[in-house]
Amino acid sequence: MSNKFTVTFLGTSSAPPQVERRQSSVAIQYRNHTLLVDAGEATQVQLLKYKISFSNLTILLTHLHSDHTLGLIGLLTTRSLYNISKSITIIGPPWTSSFIFLQLLAYRLYPEYDIKVIETGGGVVMSNSDFYIESFPVSHGDNCLGYKIITHKSLGVFNVDRALEKNIPKGKKWKKLQEGYPIEVENKKIFPSEILDRSTKNQTKIVITGDTSLDDNVINNSAMADLLIHDSTYPMIEAERAKKHKHSTCTDAAFVAKRANVKKLILTHFSELHKNLAESLRDAKEIFPNSIVAYDGLEIEV
Ligand SMILES: [Zn+2]
Ligand SMILES: [Zn+2]
Repeated sequence: MSNKFTVTFLGTSSAPPQVERRQSSVAIQYRNHTLLVDAGEATQVQLLKYKISFSNLTILLTHLHSDHTLGLIGLLTTRSLYNISKSITIIGPPWTSSFIFLQLLAYRLYPEYDIKVIETGGGVVMSNSDFYIESFPVSHGDNCLGYKIITHKSLGVFNVDRALEKNIPKGKKWKKLQEGYPIEVENKKIFPSEILDRSTKNQTKIVITGDTSLDDNVINNSAMADLLIHDSTYPMIEAERAKKHKHSTCTDAAFVAKRANVKKLILTHFSELHKNLAESLRDAKEIFPNSIVAYDGLEIEV
């Protein structure tokens, strides 16, 4: 089994349509999991084009702006047309549930599979035997999120002596700590960082910001990531506009990557004002050399 994530960019444009770029969507595949982060207008077509199955998806919505969600209802409908019976989990900010079910009602769509919605304002939202997912708030207006996807191995080495010192009973609680969840013993909270020794061995961490302006919280949450996918709506000279519209410039993104000490940065979510991407890439690389410009169809392994 592969220990690598495959990240495929399905859409790399901001809201107004562009001929060469579709609206936001990124597929992150790991073993038999497919995470779809956002579902802009042409997401279904892009899934077909890049041969990504509709059946095994977990959807993560960074926020409910239309350029990140217009493709969602179509995708849910197509799953019905394909007779897919497997349930689907959709993770998103507060209001996600009403947002989806009101649209389904308006279209009179009644999928026969279960749709499980998890609304989050931050924290661990999903965990399986391979990785866990955490959301965190970003600066793009109310209820906007970034996501971290982290393999369990990244958490470090379990220190048995320290666990015994703190009277943590062996079994479930040890497992929880190993998976990155805090536990309680004798009414005291114990965080995984108190029991695990830091180890970057086998670590894989992917951070995707969704839309955001330059934000300290993004820097904190991106710490040591293997891959940071960051809003880069505008070129450097449009810094004022970026601030006003709560987006980032290419150099904001590079600054975050540098401060967070990530391994690789991918710039995405380009506005039509962002034409000269070669120049922006140069600007970004001056701050953070391992920067890449995303395009629809870009696939990388992490
Ligand atoms: Zn957007
Ligand atoms: Zn937005």
